[in-house]
Amino acid sequence: MIRISPPWKGPRADDIWALYYFLLYKMLPFAPEDYLPIDSRGAYYYPNGDRTKKKRYPTAHKKFKLTKTSQDILSKAKVPAPNTPEELIELVSPQLHQYLYQNHTVQREKLRELLTTETDGKTIQAKKLEFSAKSALSKLLLTQIFNYDSFSRQNLFPQLVQMTGVEVCPYCNRSFTTTVRTRKGEYHRQNQVDHYRSKSKFPWFALTLPNLIPACGNCNQKKGDDEQYVLYPYQEEFGEQYQFHTTPISSTAYLMGQMVKPDEFEVTIERVGPVGDPDYDQRVQTSIEKFGLDVLYRESHNAYVCAIFEQRYIFNNAYLDSLIDSFPGLFKSREEARQLLYMKRYDAEGLGAAPLAKLTHDIDEEISRLYMDKKP
Ligand SMILES: [Zn+2]
Repeated sequence: MIRISPPWKGPRADDIWALYYFLLYKMLPFAPEDYLPIDSRGAYYYPNGDRTKKKRYPTAHKKFKLTKTSQDILSKAKVPAPNTPEELIELVSPQLHQYLYQNHTVQREKLRELLTTETDGKTIQAKKLEFSAKSALSKLLLTQIFNYDSFSRQNLFPQLVQMTGVEVCPYCNRSFTTTVRTRKGEYHRQNQVDHYRSKSKFPWFALTLPNLIPACGNCNQKKGDDEQYVLYPYQEEFGEQYQFHTTPISSTAYLMGQMVKPDEFEVTIERVGPVGDPDYDQRVQTSIEKFGLDVLYRESHNAYVCAIFEQRYIFNNAYLDSLIDSFPGLFKSREEARQLLYMKRYDAEGLGAAPLAKLTHDIDEEISRLYMDKKP
């Protein structure tokens, strides 16, 4: 697992928020001033989320309307159908109602907090954002307000996903998750969007921007929605603590870049250094198990790993130094020259740019340790 930088804090943050609020404005059944950014003249948004356009002050907002299915469910249960978002919230979760409303007025900063908070465990516990809702039915009803289907069906949603800049699945670091743009300017997603806190257990976070994680379809499906939490990729990663290693099984020829048999070594994920935060370690184990990372990396990438050994054996430090001498100013270090040979960046910022960058980084470090006494 790799860490992805929170796009709402990055260089495109203003553009992302503008588009995000515009998409909310199209479908969220609250008064716009309850969640839109506000200035001296009242709440505003940018037409089409485009900050180059003049900001606009909302006139009307999306009316609240229950779907036919929800009405049927309620009438079978002989419960009067709510007419407003507040009535619905009060019906399904008095806790959430108490949090969001005071004297029947939406607490603007609370609603904005729900929509913009990071959803890692520490933050939502500290902010007391775990509410109980009465039943699975109630949670279904809450999706009438925090309606991800309607949010994500909008034409501009793929553009929002594209603006997050997530190129490779943060969970497995194996698949591209790019959103591409056609010549006509249309955005096509090659990804799914995972809800870090699931829609079914935390329906009030279904639209929360920091809860949306672009990921590959495999990982999104494997993750499921039980109470076991994986690492929160906007903050956490395997990093230096958990690294890929090779363990010889039937031969050590691969160390010289020659693999005699395909199963002569095994790639494993291991903790490096002293034991740290047990909660973090637990989430790492959950991540490995849920996404099947140990199996995926053990079964799929031996030929690739062997090629890294081969590269290091052939393009040794003396060779890299000669490259650096031949192209003065092109490389700042051997590391940089080596990354070019791998055609892959794997420094902290580059891990999310190419599949298998983390594996490449870790095996390269392993080789450095193995060769330490042999190379200048
Ligand atoms: Zn994945």
